[in-house]
Amino acid sequence: MTDLTRMTATDLAGLVASGETSAVEVTRAHLDRIAAVDDRVHAFLHVDTEGALAAARAVDERRAAGEQLGPLAGVPVAVKDVLTTKGVPTTVGSKILEGWRPPYDATIVQRLQAAGTVMLGKTNMDEFAMGSSTEYSAYGPTHNPWDTDRIPGGSGGGSAAALAAYEAPLAIGSDTGGSIRQPGAVTGTVGAKPTYGGTSRYGLVAFSSSLDTPGPCARTVLDAALLHQVIGGHDPRDSTSIPQPVPDVVAAAKLGATGDLTGVKLGIVKEFTGEGAEPGVMAAFRESVDTLAKLGAEIVEVSCPHFRYALPAYYLIAPSECSSNLARFDGVRFGLRVGDDGNRSLEEVMSLTREAGFGAEVKRRIMVGTYALSSGYYDAYYGQAQKVRTLITRDFTTAFEQVDALISPTTPFVAFPIGARTADPYQMYLADLFTIPTNLYGGPGISVPCGLSEGLPVGLQVMAPTMADDRMYRVAAALESVVGTFTPPAL
Ligand code: GLN
Repeated sequence: MTDLTRMTATDLAGLVASGETSAVEVTRAHLDRIAAVDDRVHAFLHVDTEGALAAARAVDERRAAGEQLGPLAGVPVAVKDVLTTKGVPTTVGSKILEGWRPPYDATIVQRLQAAGTVMLGKTNMDEFAMGSSTEYSAYGPTHNPWDTDRIPGGSGGGSAAALAAYEAPLAIGSDTGGSIRQPGAVTGTVGAKPTYGGTSRYGLVAFSSSLDTPGPCARTVLDAALLHQVIGGHDPRDSTSIPQPVPDVVAAAKLGATGDLTGVKLGIVKEFTGEGAEPGVMAAFRESVDTLAKLGAEIVEVSCPHFRYALPAYYLIAPSECSSNLARFDGVRFGLRVGDDGNRSLEEVMSLTREAGFGAEVKRRIMVGTYALSSGYYDAYYGQAQKVRTLITRDFTTAFEQVDALISPTTPFVAFPIGARTADPYQMYLADLFTIPTNLYGGPGISVPCGLSEGLPVGLQVMAPTMADDRMYRVAAALESVVGTFTPPAL
């Protein structure tokens, strides 16, 4: 019998729709796989066995009643623990929210349900989505299915590892500086950050509100596009949501899969020289550039002179916003409450709760952000970073007058060994060297597997203009049509 966990979401939905298999069978196969491998991977913080089987049964009943099912009905999905799920634990990888069961579903979770997908559970992540390896999760790291001594990327390492370990065919991530694309790259899976405002932030626990973007993760470009279509689009409950339909990413992925990029102009960013990147990563990237050219794309070099300031600007803007957003975790409204023995003041209880509830990286960000926003330093740090953000946006605008999309490696290095970069925060921050400019601009970016370096996956990033998400899917699907999908050595 075919192993249902090895199939694409597209194929699984087809089998469920035709009645060749049931949503319950598909769900059970994935729950069994999780039971078999997740002690080694630790992709999940919570597996919702009962909820998943109930959702699957509902799909099977709708089918039996002759209802028309959506394109992903009956397909399991793993959801990053950054999205609220009604009655289902939501920790954001932090002790401060341990035991919290939100009273409402995020818009994306509601849309997943309405589409008939089956939520398997919540995936591991760096605490409050701050990190590049999941090592900053308060619940222990996730392991890369390619080599369980290595990191699966972050912050959404759990979602990417669940895909690579065949525990789920689809997953949801969130990308503030690279947290969908970087884990995708280092696990040999596909991760797409939609245009900012193209997917709803309602129910996404806030880290940096002007950057946070939920999006799809999958093993193929078409599956990611189908998921993008289901979760995307305007949401009146998110004031920064764009009141426009999702660009036709599914049609674009299908067009790209024909392997023809004639008439598409792609730009290589001159300032991404490869300095700071591993030679094996740059070699895989250059090989992919040749492949894209063979498919008919015209490749040119473009200059984005301010990209080199993206990392420092991000590490002022994101902590500044986080220092404000995380003020709400005060031991009163949600989760953990420490030291409330009747003799302490409210301030003392708040302080003890935050001291015990937040990990070291989260505290570092709150302190940096508070400093950058403080009177006397605001202009020199936060204000300056905002100006840099404007210049980076201009770089993109100018570039997109010359080319349809930009391409780069997704990450400077392949999956590194667990523990290799935790001693120096800057070494961890470097993982997002190539992904952060897109976040500051607000455009879409995708990572698609493009090759191997020392036996580990390398991702190619495609960056497109805002609300032109379809373009990046076309290019990614074209590359995938040549390079294929990636399977890690057996777990
Ligand atoms: N690694 C980056 C950070 O630590 C990006 C995180 C993200 O995209 N959520 O902030």
